[in-house]
Amino acid sequence: MSTSERKVPFFKYQRAFHNQESQFVEIFQDIIRRGAFILQRDLADFEQALASYLGVKHAFGVGNATDGMIIAWRAIGLCQGDEVIFPSHTMVATPAAIHFGGGIPVPVDCGSDHLIDPTQIENAITDRTRAIAPVQLNGRTCNMDPILELADRHQLIIMEDAAQALGSRFKQRPAGTFGQAGVFSFYPAKVLGCLGDGGAVVTNDDELARKIGRLRDHGRDESGEICMWGMNSRLDNLQAAFLHAQLKGYREVVEFRRTLALRYQTNLASCGHLALPPAPESDADHFDVYQNYEIEANYRDELKTHLQSRGIGTLIQWGGKPVHQHEKLGFRVELPATDRLFARCLLLPMNICLGNDDIDYVSESILEFYRQR
Ligand SMILES: *Cc1c(COP(=O)(O)O)cnc(C)c1O
Repeated sequence: MSTSERKVPFFKYQRAFHNQESQFVEIFQDIIRRGAFILQRDLADFEQALASYLGVKHAFGVGNATDGMIIAWRAIGLCQGDEVIFPSHTMVATPAAIHFGGGIPVPVDCGSDHLIDPTQIENAITDRTRAIAPVQLNGRTCNMDPILELADRHQLIIMEDAAQALGSRFKQRPAGTFGQAGVFSFYPAKVLGCLGDGGAVVTNDDELARKIGRLRDHGRDESGEICMWGMNSRLDNLQAAFLHAQLKGYREVVEFRRTLALRYQTNLASCGHLALPPAPESDADHFDVYQNYEIEANYRDELKTHLQSRGIGTLIQWGGKPVHQHEKLGFRVELPATDRLFARCLLLPMNICLGNDDIDYVSESILEFYRQR
């Protein structure tokens, strides 16, 4: 195999904030000079801007999305033995948060859209089931209608892992706003990323909001009085300022990712060896932000190697294993759809550093691989 001149890295951290560098330096200096580090105005301003972007009543910046989910579950009040149904195709953070939030994570299969399968949720419901944790994966929101219907019928709580889905919508309603609470991640590689760890919890419930605000700050209320056990998980004021600056241009970032997705779609739609994510305008119910472009591919491992030889980086999510395949976590379930998907799924490069020529080069390299099959 020839080594390629051209390089399309999967994601390049050195380039992620390249365009914002001078703006970030100004923010940094301003915050140093004001000495505004913890729970300051910049955080409150960002929380308000985020809440308004999502059309929710309350948003709280937290240390990261994993903490955010633990805080959300604690605020909701899981009891010992409460089962929470989640899709195995997710980061281990989703069930870890259920575990540390006091519940028992119950993994289920995903459907052809790579998202939690509502039929499998229904099959997994027992008299101990307390909640559902849909994961709005790859920047796409689940078809929430059957999930909301199940939750209603069985009196279950919904808490969304929307770590990958800021700005994604189902029937005009944003990911993260369907249940009692929703959580977002600002890890640097997320569509809205900061310069380290960061996350947010959102809710429309005033009582839950009060608890979330206290849980993230040592259990302190507005007057500084300790009124419950709490954690220390506050989004840094500095990170909030970086995020707020980027949120202002967020719609354009999302539109740009959608044009890249459309270009992959146009280039690759005719290839019978692939299953592509839905195209941006293919479905009136969904608005996707393309955190990831997750394809299914015949001869997946050979394709990955071929693309590597052409200088193209790809990724299999979660290190190649869905949650239930981690033996040490002790899940004893058969999830055939997820197992099948993990023999075929692959993330193609999808980030704002890419241009049309990069997408065309990746696409051409894929088509070239299958011409030899
Ligand atoms: C990134 C991610 C998380 C974890 O977010 P952190 O902010 O790193 O804690 C959780 N769930 C999903 C689906 C993710 O993609």
